[in-house]
Amino acid sequence: MSGKISIAIDGPASAGKSTVAKILAKELDYIYVDTGAMYRAITLASLEQQVDPSDEVKLTELVHHLTISFEQGTDGQLVFLNGRDITEAIRQPDVTNLVSQVSAHKGIRLELVKQQRQLALRGGIVMDGRDIGTAVLPQAEVKIFLVASVNERADRRYKENLSKGIMTDYESLKAEIEARDHKDSTRKNSPLIQAEDAVRLDTTGLSINEVVESIKKVIKTKVN
Ligand code: C5P
Repeated sequence: MSGKISIAIDGPASAGKSTVAKILAKELDYIYVDTGAMYRAITLASLEQQVDPSDEVKLTELVHHLTISFEQGTDGQLVFLNGRDITEAIRQPDVTNLVSQVSAHKGIRLELVKQQRQLALRGGIVMDGRDIGTAVLPQAEVKIFLVASVNERADRRYKENLSKGIMTDYESLKAEIEARDHKDSTRKNSPLIQAEDAVRLDTTGLSINEVVESIKKVIKTKVN
């Protein structure tokens, strides 16, 4: 493929966005940016520093004192907050259950979107999140909206947790996913919606490889 493009992958929680985004970035030799990790990092900081998650002014002030960065580790991408490795901490249930409240604030989004655009300036980017195709990179050449049934998403998350030795209750996982989708889709600022020019892909019943191949087909048709 000649010329580096921007690829935006959006969709609800646990639809497989980051898994396929990472594979695509590796194959294309592009940069992968996990924007969800950035909202999670702010949420972790608000928990640690006991900033009320409903206090937009204090939270926005906090964001200005935080530096979020990514590094390639041997086992995948690592996330850092002011130089500290927070890759695992941001996946814990306390962060997951609070992140939608923190990400709903306009002040937080303005700052993080600015940083996300900065990361994408040079092109050659695969970025995943909720508002990449609609708000962060509306000019992205390729926009994918990944969906899957809530049962399948809960099932995938359940198995993923098991493989990491984390015991979770399937029904609670499903309820948590539905609650987060609801909050992310109904918030006032940049809610989760499909961009008009995004290609919608239902991954229910598809393997990771099948999803990656479908996206590659979309890339080919958009780029040629
Ligand atoms: O992608 P992930 O599930 O890690 O995202 C965590 C949360 O961060 C989402 O539920 C959403 O509240 C927020 N988010 C967002 N906009 C993005 C990416 C994530 O609001 N672009």
